Amino acid sequence: PLILGIESTCDETGVGLVRGDDLLVDRTATSMDQYARYGGIIPEIASRAHLEAFVPTLDSALDEAGVSLGDVDAIAVSAGPGLVGSLTVGICAAKALALALDRPLYGVNHVIGHLAVDKLAEGPLPEHFIGLVVSGGHSNLLDVHDIATDVRELGGTLDDAAGEAFDKVGRLLGLPYPGGPHVDRLSQRGDREAIRFPRGLAAPKDRDRHAYDFSFSGLKTAVARYVEGARQCGEEVSAEDVCAAFSEAVNDSLTSKAVRACQDTGCGTIVIGGGFSANSRLRALIRERADAAGLTVRMPPLRFCTDNGAQIAAIGAELVRAGVAPSDPGFSPDSGMPLTQTWMAPRPVPA
Ligand code: ATP
Ligand code: FE
Ligand code: MG
Repeated sequence: PLILGIESTCDETGVGLVRGDDLLVDRTATSMDQYARYGGIIPEIASRAHLEAFVPTLDSALDEAGVSLGDVDAIAVSAGPGLVGSLTVGICAAKALALALDRPLYGVNHVIGHLAVDKLAEGPLPEHFIGLVVSGGHSNLLDVHDIATDVRELGGTLDDAAGEAFDKVGRLLGLPYPGGPHVDRLSQRGDREAIRFPRGLAAPKDRDRHAYDFSFSGLKTAVARYVEGARQCGEEVSAEDVCAAFSEAVNDSLTSKAVRACQDTGCGTIVIGGGFSANSRLRALIRERADAAGLTVRMPPLRFCTDNGAQIAAIGAELVRAGVAPSDPGFSPDSGMPLTQTWMAPRPVPA
């Protein structure tokens, strides 16, 4: 079956077409360039941009794939988590299409899509894997037995997400918004051991209760103190070294806990995903540590790390494969959709 995926959780308008594990097309428009002067996303601007971008993005995706709307067998759309205004645009468009074409509609979890997209690059997802989703809004470890029907949450960040922490450090260093990719680039030229920043939740008292949780806000404060302290002393701060040492602290936590989750659950594969999974140090360190522990690691190519429609179509394909019931046509966006919920299952009809 041909699945149409629609993404509009934040600033990217994405349309993807997937058949089984195969990607036909993935088209994205973004309003990110409009936020540089604000230093953050303005929800009202993002919603309007989705409204303008949706139809042209859909048309060009269909064109490129050489299919027509009538060929689509099912539709998947991000139902959350995300900005309600942005989500509403994609959901309304998806509902209209589903109604007009008389096709099933699945309201799906955007964050789970960051893991599902991996199958479009590397083939069917493994039977059981540990998912590490790291993005602007999330840093979570998931125990995934079936991405459609059995996703368990092992832990997550108690404060900032990894991407968010990178963006904040970027701002602190005067880098353009969003800072994540800039901090990554600078870190590649710095000395990871020049400064020793703290690892959150690594103390013995936290080791068991927060075995799979993360905390990055203390680290961010430590970076701020370091930079201020050095400036006050009139010392030159090496932004490269600060970025490298900061990145090392974040990625040390992410990768060591992902490996531990595999070992504790007897799972042999880690799948990473989300905007932050583009981070160069994360990709190198997870590879290194997984190899050392005899684990397989799968990571999406960089073009799939950014929010996209293909990730949403990929979940749609998994839901169709699992044979689950489509969402109720009246479902609403859920800005805080839980990660254990892959899609908006229909409410049971009262007896
Ligand atoms: P969520 O997926 O949790 O809803 P989101 O969709 O806003 O959140 P993504 O778009 O998946 O997040 O990821 C964007 C985040 O990834 C931003 O914080 C950005 O700075 C960060 N990011 C992107 N590339 C890199 C990189 N190379 N290194 C570090 N951070 C990066
Ligand atoms: Fe995302
Ligand atoms: Mg985004």
